[in-house]
Amino acid sequence: MKNKIVLAVGAHPDDMDFSSSGTIAKWVLEGATAYYLILTRGCRGSNDPKMTSEKLSKIRQREQEEAAKILGVRKVFFLNHTDTELVADLSLKEEIVRFIRKLRPNIVITMDPTFYYVPYLSFYGYGFVNHSDHRAAGLATLDACFPLARDRLSFLQHEKQGLKPHKVEELLLVNLAKADFIVDITKTFAKKLQALACHKSQYDDFNVVRDRVRKRAAYLRKKNYKYAENFTRIKLP
Ligand SMILES: [Zn+2]
Repeated sequence: MKNKIVLAVGAHPDDMDFSSSGTIAKWVLEGATAYYLILTRGCRGSNDPKMTSEKLSKIRQREQEEAAKILGVRKVFFLNHTDTELVADLSLKEEIVRFIRKLRPNIVITMDPTFYYVPYLSFYGYGFVNHSDHRAAGLATLDACFPLARDRLSFLQHEKQGLKPHKVEELLLVNLAKADFIVDITKTFAKKLQALACHKSQYDDFNVVRDRVRKRAAYLRKKNYKYAENFTRIKLP
């Protein structure tokens, strides 16, 4: 992973920590440079009657930055979209393309936009509906990587701003219901838990979260792996 650049695009602060942080921390240890791009301000994720959206988004950004530091992520970029209202329109795609052309990642990690729900997950004992922001983030990022960032004539204004077209080599998509590309995260699993623990505003009891994450990571265990993360991998030409 030496000299590789990895960009993880999530909808909310904590998305990439839940789904991919073991892999990201591992690749950073192996020499990669990693960045996070978080598309919303995470301003709706609280039931506290005294919490305001403004206050919450500041807290959540800080939590995400602390988590990123633990993982060795070089920088977290935040866009200013509103939680639960993310739409994969051309303007969101343009914003993502701008980061792809600026950071020039070899690998982009994001959510699988085709993942709507799964009726039952044996490692949790219940089903799961994927948040619409996750699907929008995945779709906009997929389109941004291919073909928009690659094609010079897409968003030609970027060229005037010194941003050149860029080809992403590999896409990793997060989908709880699929496990076709497994990454052994045994060595960085502790870091993943540490990073997740930073998102204090999101949990009443982190022990419950820890158990849930452990169950899932162990479920993905293959042969000698103790803990793993899973993706669908797309190699682009
Ligand atoms: Zn989320």
